[in-house]
Amino acid sequence: MKVPLLDLKTQYQGIKDEIKEAVEEVFESQQFILGPKVEALEESVADYCGCKYAVGVSSGTDALLIALMAADIGAGHGVITTPYTFFATSGSIIRAGARPLFVDIDPATFNVDPVGIRKLIEVECSFDPATEQLVHRQTATVIRAIMPVHLYGQCADMDPILKLAKKYHLLLFEDGAQAIGAEYLSENNHTMRAGSMGKFGCFSFFPTKNLGGCGDGGMVTTHDRDSAEKLRVLRVHGSKPKYYHQLVGGNFRLDALQAAVLLVKLKYLDGWTAKRRAHASYYNSLFQQSGLVEKGFITPPRAVWEDRFSKRISNPKSAVQNPQFNGHIYNQYVIRAQARDELRAYLVEQGIGTEIYYPISLHQQECFAQLGCSKAGFPESEKAALTTLALPVYPELKPAQLAYVVEKINSFYPDNG
Ligand SMILES: *Cc1c(COP(=O)(O)O)cnc(C)c1O
Repeated sequence: MKVPLLDLKTQYQGIKDEIKEAVEEVFESQQFILGPKVEALEESVADYCGCKYAVGVSSGTDALLIALMAADIGAGHGVITTPYTFFATSGSIIRAGARPLFVDIDPATFNVDPVGIRKLIEVECSFDPATEQLVHRQTATVIRAIMPVHLYGQCADMDPILKLAKKYHLLLFEDGAQAIGAEYLSENNHTMRAGSMGKFGCFSFFPTKNLGGCGDGGMVTTHDRDSAEKLRVLRVHGSKPKYYHQLVGGNFRLDALQAAVLLVKLKYLDGWTAKRRAHASYYNSLFQQSGLVEKGFITPPRAVWEDRFSKRISNPKSAVQNPQFNGHIYNQYVIRAQARDELRAYLVEQGIGTEIYYPISLHQQECFAQLGCSKAGFPESEKAALTTLALPVYPELKPAQLAYVVEKINSFYPDNG
């Protein structure tokens, strides 16, 4: 049996006719840049994410960069973020001219730990109520924003992050590149979609994401009209009207072809998410039954706000239908595994594809050496980089394939075979 990490061909076979028709429309129109398809996608994504506005851009990376530019974040500024994420999160902060200030992750969710953010703010910074400036003493940067990442498709713990942002006048940028459709249930019982909680939500349509195009693409969401307008100007070199530049922007445009494909796929997204969740649930139960969890060989991903979501579901007016998934969309299903690298090599031999997201934390990247972070300053991120393994969880998988993955993991561990 073969179980690849991802199989986009099977997905394509199911929606081929619709995709071809949508693409054909764009070819017939010969309008390839922005235009009606992009506008339609922007409206649909804004609606899907529970935001007033959405602005299509060239990639998830550019979504982060242009959002930072729209907020005038640059030289002398600090942005609090996680070191355990895809490179683009802090890459964009640096490219904007600002400085990432890392806070370690919560080992239960792999997302930035709000307690760590509070400590960074309250121990390492000084807040001046007169100017409302939060200064990070060691780096002499003015902290302007927090950029949590909803890693693997599960929202960061936003309640405490939102409170800190409010208290210290910080902007919130959600890196939702792995999390379109993910939900967070606040303490006061509001269900909120990824990208709707901060000032800006940033999404990626890279082909391997849960909503992927036929090339690069991205989206920025916001509730703020002026910010949406500024994003639209920045994405065309800051020009408004044409050839008159109030701002220095860039070419951050989304292609009409991408939008056409994504409009087709967006209709299927909830169905695909339901399948990902069903797979995650099946994996969880197989791992429990196998004894691998009890013996400490494997730690499946944790549903952290289960209690909160279960209470909510007992309310008949609840919009939440799947409390056990606590809003997680399982863009990735990530376990922790003992002897992770040996397990991974063994699974390759068995025809099973896996991936490590991410083998090295950002504070340890060579290009960030100038930040002067201690190589061992973020122990939970470092531990995660050494123990996590993503298993196949794409919607089109068959239960027999999931069972095969767990069976092979089982036979890898000596006491369990
Ligand atoms: C994929 C990803 C990005 C970048 O998106 P691209 O579309 O590839 O530029 C940014 N942040 C995270 C967390 C991602 O997973």
